[in-house]
Amino acid sequence: MTEQKRKPEKLTGVKGMNDILPQDAGLWDFFETTVKSMLRSYGYQNIRTPILEHTQLFTRGIGEVTDIVEKEMYSFTDALNGENLTLRPENTAAVVRASIEHNMLYDGPKRLWYVGPMFRHERPQRGRYRQFHQVGVEALGFAGPDADAEIILMCQRLWDDLGLTGIKLEINSLGLAEERAAHRVELIKYLEQHVELLDEDGKRRLYTNPLRVLDTKNPALQEIANNAPKLIDFLGDHSRAHFEGLQRILKANNIPFTINPRLVRGLDYYNLTVFEWITDKLGAQGTVAAGGRYDPLIEQLGGKPTAACGWAMGVERILELLKEDDLVPQDEGCDVYVVHQGDAARDQAFIVAERLRDTGLDVILHCSADGQSASFKSQMKRADASGAAFAVVLGEDEVAKGVVGVKPLRGVAADARNEQQTIALEDLTEYLINAMVASAEDGDD
Ligand code: ATP
Ligand code: MG
Repeated sequence: MTEQKRKPEKLTGVKGMNDILPQDAGLWDFFETTVKSMLRSYGYQNIRTPILEHTQLFTRGIGEVTDIVEKEMYSFTDALNGENLTLRPENTAAVVRASIEHNMLYDGPKRLWYVGPMFRHERPQRGRYRQFHQVGVEALGFAGPDADAEIILMCQRLWDDLGLTGIKLEINSLGLAEERAAHRVELIKYLEQHVELLDEDGKRRLYTNPLRVLDTKNPALQEIANNAPKLIDFLGDHSRAHFEGLQRILKANNIPFTINPRLVRGLDYYNLTVFEWITDKLGAQGTVAAGGRYDPLIEQLGGKPTAACGWAMGVERILELLKEDDLVPQDEGCDVYVVHQGDAARDQAFIVAERLRDTGLDVILHCSADGQSASFKSQMKRADASGAAFAVVLGEDEVAKGVVGVKPLRGVAADARNEQQTIALEDLTEYLINAMVASAEDGDD
């Protein structure tokens, strides 16, 4: 009996952590290019911090009684040196840490942005993953409502640039610490009267973080939350002036908004302005961006007291919206696919392909799948499937004569002049560039 070969078991990725496959690359690229250009247009500078941080940064920076710190962090002890580390669940704390560590604010305020993966141990569902991506901005060192307004306008511009509609802005003010303390007393009294109706989270937070009870997603608690004393009624002069200042700028810039007194945000460090951008097209995970002012945070993390505000947006949710609204850009193939047969033609093909790339064209050079030279016919099939605009054809004949064959493969050029042309090698780049321009102009009509 022959020994049966066991097939190795297939490995899978970690639950809730997605592969971003090539078919979605164009969509990611479109989003990232658009968002970067928007960020540049407001003078924001990119900052890149590590994905791993000391756990303490988040327990201190986000707050102990939050969903993130209570139950969502990927934390572990480094087996090599015993350090407590956490995969970043968000990036504001890390950006603030870096700004303090590198004394970045010594010469005045900074406008910063980041993009990258974040990690939260949540129940995976549409729009909620364990590894997801955020783009975020942090405006450090600006105390007035003008900075709050600026970062909100940035979001509106991004929606417009992406072509997204129907994303609604909700704002609220969390006031100052004293105002929250006065409200908290009343809120606890109110919640105590309804304690038997609270869910497990609500009971636990009643005394530790009662404001968060209002942020519940439990439908059974909506009425209790709606009728609770409103923080907005406890605001003092400064907080009210700040909130009104923001509203004035938003109105002057035609940004519609609603005031949602229950909007409190999950993270502890917010004060004054908070806001969310919400769509009803994504089911339960409708918040695509969220942010606000977090003036206490920089001092809390060991820096000099410095005002700050920012937002973070969920990239996957925005991409989902782009798909929902049919705004996915057409993914074009490369410019040229080079097919060749015979050793001399292969050598020439490499030279031609490199020369075309020197001029800025995108080129795929046919490589055989099995190490054998494939027929022109099967190579042309690959060329077609690649989505390239042109095939460049090199055989022994072409090499001997110092020419190449050029065949339009897609678009208007292919319909109008489907025939293969013979072009002198030295004229090839000019011919292709002209042909690309002409076919792009035809395509515009
Ligand atoms: P939620 O209430 O939906 O849990 P959050 O308050 O925890 O959101 P933030 O910490 O403010 O969210 O993060 C900002 C944005 O990042 C969210 O509005 C959302 O678009 C996105 N986001 C947050 N958590 C996830 C996740 N697990 N998967 C995908 N996107 C997420
Ligand atoms: Mg959350």
